[in-house]
Amino acid sequence: RAKSAGSNQYRFYASDMNIRGHELLKMEADLRYALEHEQFILHYQPQVDLSNGRIVGVEGLIRWQHPVRGLVSPADFIPLLENSSLIIPVGEWVLREACRLHRTWRESGFDGVRLSVNVSAVQFNDGELLDKVRRALQEEEMPQQALELEITENILMQDPVKATEILQSIHALGVRVAIDDFGTGYSSLAYLKRFPLDALKIDQAFVRDIINSASDAVIVEASISLAHKLGLEVVGEGVETVEQFEFLRLQKCNLAQGYHLGRPIPELQLSQWLAKKRQ
Ligand code: C2E
Ligand code: CA
Ligand code: CA
Ligand code: CA
Repeated sequence: RAKSAGSNQYRFYASDMNIRGHELLKMEADLRYALEHEQFILHYQPQVDLSNGRIVGVEGLIRWQHPVRGLVSPADFIPLLENSSLIIPVGEWVLREACRLHRTWRESGFDGVRLSVNVSAVQFNDGELLDKVRRALQEEEMPQQALELEITENILMQDPVKATEILQSIHALGVRVAIDDFGTGYSSLAYLKRFPLDALKIDQAFVRDIINSASDAVIVEASISLAHKLGLEVVGEGVETVEQFEFLRLQKCNLAQGYHLGRPIPELQLSQWLAKKRQ
């Protein structure tokens, strides 16, 4: 009896899986189509220097302009891209697109604004990442220091020896590396000092409660001071209020990113904003 109940359950589960399997295949086909038909776009969110209010960088964030569903958030399709390895060509497109935009800025005379792009684990471990970065830099004549790759700490912890090699070769190109979502993974600052890194982005989960939670405030303060001792620049993510902004500024955090400074916006709007800020 138990056995037959078990097999019923299995059948139910299996047919459930079939439906979901179909949907996944359809989504994958749609994503492939999206890449070929230029349905992906990048929005850009400013990173502001807390000491003088200047925009020193922007982070490129992907969206899918779906013909029916409208603007789809990366949380809904990045995992699918990663599972299907489509993240490799899409990630290459992101890199190229960001470098292309940077070229238009340089041609308009905006210098010194950095561009950050997110790199997923699959991309980081793809043996061709370095070649792709090198090619994008060359073809868009991008100043190396203006490009920053954002990776999460878990990517480094999977295989620290290999990760160190990859980071060293990225550094040899002159490209910056930032640790994204710091505090949410399985590492510590003490461990991170082994890796050649330039910046650390404190996850928005900590920034969100710095005003109301004494323990989050302490974590953020300690992260900033340790990061500085290790020579890393610190970015506070998810800054939504002036109080959070002021807290980070007083703690000598270097940069802030979040809705309080600006939401992610399309290329044209950002370029207009940069042009206005310059006057
Ligand atoms: P992330 O790299 O941690 O990016 C920050 C996310 O927080 C973005 O969500 C951004 O819109 C959002 N955000 C910024 N400021 C605030 C704020 O003040 N409050 C709140 N609540 N949220 C804020 P988004 O654009 O939906 O991206 C989600 C994630 O998708 C990213 O998290 C990143 O992990 C991934 N992603 C985005 N673009 C790419 C890409 O081109 N390649 C890869 N591999 N992953 C990407
Ligand atoms: Ca990021
Ligand atoms: Ca982040
Ligand atoms: Ca995140």
